[in-house]
Amino acid sequence: MRPFAYLRARTVTEAVREHAAHPGAGFLGGGTNLVDLMKLGVEAPRLLIDISRLPLAEVADTDDGGLRIGATVRNSDLAAHPAVRTRYPALSQALLSGASGQLRNVATTGGNLLQRTRCPYFQDVSKPCNKREPGAGCSARDGAHRELAVLGHSEHCVATHPSDMAVALSALDACVLLHGPDGERTVPASEFHRLPGDTPDRDTEIRAGELVTQVILPPRPDGAGSLYRKARDRASFAFALASVAAVLSVRDGRIAHAALAFGGLAHRPWRARTAERVLRGAPATAETFARAADAELAGARPLRDNAFKVGLAHSLAVDALTELVP
Ligand SMILES: Cc1cc2nc3c(=O)[nH]c(=O)nc-3n(C[C@H](O)[C@H](O)[C@H](O)COP(=O)(O)OP(=O)(O)OC[C@H]3O[C@@H](n4cnc5c(N)ncnc54)[C@H](O)[C@@H]3O)c2cc1C
Ligand code: SF4
Repeated sequence: MRPFAYLRARTVTEAVREHAAHPGAGFLGGGTNLVDLMKLGVEAPRLLIDISRLPLAEVADTDDGGLRIGATVRNSDLAAHPAVRTRYPALSQALLSGASGQLRNVATTGGNLLQRTRCPYFQDVSKPCNKREPGAGCSARDGAHRELAVLGHSEHCVATHPSDMAVALSALDACVLLHGPDGERTVPASEFHRLPGDTPDRDTEIRAGELVTQVILPPRPDGAGSLYRKARDRASFAFALASVAAVLSVRDGRIAHAALAFGGLAHRPWRARTAERVLRGAPATAETFARAADAELAGARPLRDNAFKVGLAHSLAVDALTELVP
């Protein structure tokens, strides 16, 4: 690991100011991803700005009936919060399906959103990787890519985004609040992560020196239930091969509100807008759910070894939506 300086920030203003003043600085949340990548030589910040003690560890109701989640709220605290468990079960389930109890006790909301891909070549500095080193090439395209993307990938990168939490936030129409050198701004969670295109080194829409300070959940749509389902190689301690976050409300047998996002399929949580158009207003039946999943996944472009993900995602979506019908 390369030597680095360490600073514990006391305020958001101080964290952002110090980041701007020190090119090559990085924010440290729980460190469960960043420190691993530093040990592997993938990341080498010159200064670590520890933000884990900032006063951003609260979960609070918003005036309109939504929820405000501070960026340093630990994953285990968020999953166990009564308001999350009762009003946004998909979020609680997504968090609990990730990593391990010990990791969730340390990992933060902001760090979870900004964790890097688990593509094996990204983590191996002896192999070419466009995300690590733009222009170097992509080892995964013709290499080991069973776990990687089937939707939205490019010739430059076929990585998937690893966060379960981010998939639930996308389906729940959350927003990410950012504080940077130019002030505050808000980005919808479903647009926060990017597709790789020809700049796979950029995972998200975050700008240099911006800090995630809050995630805001809107009020739960009238009568809507939500859930998260994940398929993986082991029952715990494994990233998603495919996952789905679904939000559904039904009135008089017809779908009043539907939101669907897939995980494990793309460089970002994949908000299934095409499927949602099929679902809205249609009868809440298994036939409708299958038609919606077909419509969304028609755009899949599996790689040599991961075509199985398309059928897996289809089954997860149909099962999740069926389970949500009252
Ligand atoms: C063995 C193992 C298994 C795992 N399995 C899963 C899994 O199944 N599902 C899953 O979703 N995750 C899984 N994880 C990943 C885990 O969830 C992440 O490591 C964790 O959420 C990252 O949070 P952190 O606070 O530790 O981030 P850090 O490691 O501190 O930071 C990660 C990145 O985010 C940046 N950052 C942190 N906070 C902020 C902020 N507020 N604003 C701007 N930038 C910020 C850092 O600079 C860094 O680039 C696993 C991890 C391990 C080690
Ligand atoms: S898929 Fe992306 S992260 Fe993996 S080797 Fe290719 S460029 Fe790198």
